[in-house]
Amino acid sequence: MKRCRTYPQVSRHWYRPNEHQCPVCQRTLRQAMTLTRRTVITLEGVIRLIHAGYRCPDAQCAGHRRTYRSVQADALALPGMTYGLDVVLLVGRLRLREHCTVDEIHQEVLARLAPLGVKIARREILYLFETYCTLLRAASEAKEDQQWLGQVEKNGGIIVSVDGIQPGVAATRRSTWYAMRSRGACWWPRTSRHRRRQ
Ligand SMILES: [Zn+2]
Repeated sequence: MKRCRTYPQVSRHWYRPNEHQCPVCQRTLRQAMTLTRRTVITLEGVIRLIHAGYRCPDAQCAGHRRTYRSVQADALALPGMTYGLDVVLLVGRLRLREHCTVDEIHQEVLARLAPLGVKIARREILYLFETYCTLLRAASEAKEDQQWLGQVEKNGGIIVSVDGIQPGVAATRRSTWYAMRSRGACWWPRTSRHRRRQ
């Protein structure tokens, strides 16, 4: 059974998209769903976040099916991961740029998280580094994917994140997700195993 961790200092944040109006019909967007409700550990603090998805309230509007997300919430951590992207990037930098050993990285991250009352296991450092490497690979693949880049351009979007991990599952089930953002909505147009569109 998955153990539920508790942390001594947790701040609560509610995230909603920056957009307020439907770009098609100009109606005020309304909360349509809770996209995620989870705890994320960043170097700055432990955050209990609720990420609300918004949609145009008019079912007849051509933009009704588009879900608007918070860029800030999406940027905190990869889907399903407890540790924030800042922790992933720190681990990657310490390993590849500063050539630290896994034990040295573990001690550094432990020290950075200690004020938050968070203890990270050595094996999680290995997992975070693996995540970092997958990010690098996915970013490189995305740059090569002309069909997908064409789709991004067509939609007037920009790439805001690339990720490639389904945490907690075996390596054989790992997927590569390319995320794209366009006019406030996030698409997940390509995965190696399944499609997800929100
Ligand atoms: Zn609308």
